[in-house]
Amino acid sequence: MADKRDYYEVLGISKNATEDEIKKAYRSLAKKYHPDVNKAKDAEEKFKEINEAYEVLSDPQKKATYDQFGFAGMDGFSQGGTYGGFGGFEDINDIFSSFFGGSPFGSSYSSSRRSNAPRQGDDRLQRVTIDFLEACFGKDLEFDIDVDETCKACNGSGAASPSDITTCSTCGGSGSVIRQQRTPLGVMQTQSVCPDCQGTGKKIKKICPECRGKGYNRRKTTITTHIPAGISDGQRIRVAGKGERGYNGGPNGDLYLEVRIRPDKQFERDGKNILLEIAVTAVDATIGTKMDIPTIYGDVSMKIPAGTQEGTVMRLKEKGVPDIRGGKPGDQLCIVHIEVDKKLSAKEKELYKELQNLQQKAGKESIWQRFKKQFD
Ligand SMILES: [Zn+2]
Ligand SMILES: [Zn+2]
Repeated sequence: MADKRDYYEVLGISKNATEDEIKKAYRSLAKKYHPDVNKAKDAEEKFKEINEAYEVLSDPQKKATYDQFGFAGMDGFSQGGTYGGFGGFEDINDIFSSFFGGSPFGSSYSSSRRSNAPRQGDDRLQRVTIDFLEACFGKDLEFDIDVDETCKACNGSGAASPSDITTCSTCGGSGSVIRQQRTPLGVMQTQSVCPDCQGTGKKIKKICPECRGKGYNRRKTTITTHIPAGISDGQRIRVAGKGERGYNGGPNGDLYLEVRIRPDKQFERDGKNILLEIAVTAVDATIGTKMDIPTIYGDVSMKIPAGTQEGTVMRLKEKGVPDIRGGKPGDQLCIVHIEVDKKLSAKEKELYKELQNLQQKAGKESIWQRFKKQFD
């Protein structure tokens, strides 16, 4: 790990490289170091390094994590355990066939061998929106989705019985066919998926009646999961095995639930802290009082000290959002907004008048008097 090279360095690009530049750099390096092409001792190691760098830098989310935390961030990321292989490409040869219209490699890295093998399906992303308080205290989720399940009757083979499966005669079971083309540059070999068996390498005589030969059945499945207290907007929850169906009888991918939080009318979140604006009358701010302040845990009595100024921030310790990892909750920060009465009763007016007279007699300067003094 100590001598692990920076991903940007591996691909020989700058940190500001565009998506296109990243792809281009990867393509030319992957071509150069592919173990089938490059027989140098360290080619395979290099090839792996290049793929790893590309896997991260081509994924905006992983790239952002890497940019922020470096390899430390990546370790945490891969512990999730679902990201692997060639960064979402099904097969290295698929990359080349999509770029060049065919595989530039010989048979030893052929897609035929790999496309026959069982592979995990793609991950699936679904958004769920919850309320502010649900995000604070957690929520049990239950909903139905359609999931493709491997057919139990045929174990995903699609055949009525194992004896109904035969080897495809067109490709001899390899799943791919090689075509030779004469071009001005010489004879070019291209490999493509066998048109007769669609790459499975097999032919089925009698199909499974349960799934009609598909090898899977689409089933309404109830997903039950728990959103932990303290979750943040945009965080994802993984539900294993409920993603897209696997290839060739491989396991399903995972389902990711991206949590969105509906804003609250009065509370605002700042990480674990909650911000709340509280209105205090000029009289209360001047001589002090006690107030009941709403928090997500219910009302809490708070002292407003005499002489409190506009914009003062008062902290209610541990009245913020619970910590998702079980640590201390955040605080609630109450931002004081002083409100001046617009409508006064006759009695109130009288009292304010009296206060005004008192202050004038005591020689308290008005703002205008103070202002004028500066020019004397
Ligand atoms: Zn075939
Ligand atoms: Zn079946």
